[in-house]
Amino acid sequence: MTVTLVRGDITEQAVDAVVNAANSSLLGGGGVDGAIHRRGGPAILEECRALRASRYRGGLPAGEAVATTAGRLPARWVIHTVGPVHSLSEDRSHLLASCYRSSLLLAEELGARSVAFPAISTGVYRWPLDDGARIALTTVRDTRSRLEQVKEVRFVLFDSTAYAHFERALRESGA
Ligand code: ADP
Repeated sequence: MTVTLVRGDITEQAVDAVVNAANSSLLGGGGVDGAIHRRGGPAILEECRALRASRYRGGLPAGEAVATTAGRLPARWVIHTVGPVHSLSEDRSHLLASCYRSSLLLAEELGARSVAFPAISTGVYRWPLDDGARIALTTVRDTRSRLEQVKEVRFVLFDSTAYAHFERALRESGA
């Protein structure tokens, strides 16, 4: 399995599974979530609504992951995961790590060979990029022995600052 970093827009990635930095309502939002629903079209929201009416009546808890169709995106699935909001009074790192781990294990279960991740929680949820990048890369490193189907994990970074943080975290993690 290889880890790659690209600068770009996650909705343009031709991969098997695209990970959405969703919110627990599963009904859309800003940032990555907004872009995925805008470009992927209404089929994604339709499946999210069905999930809210069945398995996730109370919403998707932070740290968990669930898959839907990718609609019109150049992917087979969207894996929705809810990152924790960054807090100065409480360490929620385990929840951020759980987002990456749960998404990777779900991708494996689906048979996805390539998975694209955004920098979860580092936007509206205010997680510092250096720490967010470190948690992302160390979690991939620690999960890779459980992945057989997944051959590529791609991080898609929106700007050069995020890219630089992930480049450094990749080097330091040995992922
Ligand atoms: P969260 O609510 O989990 O913080 P956001 O979507 O607000 O999620 O932001 C997560 C990260 O994704 C931020 O670093 C943001 O700059 C970046 N981002 C926003 N839009 C896109 C996009 N279309 N493709 C890739 N990354 C994006």
